[in-house]
Amino acid sequence: MKWTVVGFWGGHPELGEATTAYLLEEKGFRLLVDCGSGVLAQLPKYAAISDLDAVILSHFHHDHVADIGPLQFAKHVEKYIGTFSGTLPIYAHQLEPDKFAGLTYEEATVAKPYYIHEPLAAGPLRIDFLKTDHPAPCAAMRFQSGGQTIVFTADTSFIPELIPFSKNADLLVAECSLYKETDGAPMGHMNTLDVGRLAKEASVKECLLTHLPHYGDHHDLLKEVSVLYKGKLALAESGWTWECQ
Ligand code: ZN
Repeated sequence: MKWTVVGFWGGHPELGEATTAYLLEEKGFRLLVDCGSGVLAQLPKYAAISDLDAVILSHFHHDHVADIGPLQFAKHVEKYIGTFSGTLPIYAHQLEPDKFAGLTYEEATVAKPYYIHEPLAAGPLRIDFLKTDHPAPCAAMRFQSGGQTIVFTADTSFIPELIPFSKNADLLVAECSLYKETDGAPMGHMNTLDVGRLAKEASVKECLLTHLPHYGDHHDLLKEVSVLYKGKLALAESGWTWECQ
């Protein structure tokens, strides 16, 4: 599996960058994980929009879905000019039915449900889900293929269930919205101490900090997490990639 950071900002995109989105590639299958603000202008650096096989969404907050509309228009244009003939599946939970229904557009995109307690097969990937603790219904995702595992926390405060869910992951993509001084629980986000505890107790091989705050020095995030977690640690940036060895 290859994981590429398309966007990593928490609330809104900074200049020339994007909020949450990742490209997951495996055996020629290309999955876009979340589709935040600014993503359509970033994605072509890593894959053509026409090359996407599917999209999967963790939840319906703007910073994770803002560019779904432009993506639907892009697929519509591709159909109009004849460069795309199928229908792009967009996987999401159905806990907000109106928003789920909006993922179907013309014949360009189609809403496809996933269920929290059922693994989903998407291309060569097995995807398991965990409902997180967040103001909107949200699912963390565990991607598996070829004996390798990537876990994406999506948006969440620390919950103990994240530990077994993330156990022994080759890569943990952890939201790290806050510095240690701020308790993330009331907001449904993790601070650096939460991420450090999760990465340590789940014994992950590598941890990527993402969904980064719009203030402070991001290198302090690394310092604060590394007090608890002694494994390999990285800070998300546009174009950062990870690939199974
Ligand atoms: Zn959110």
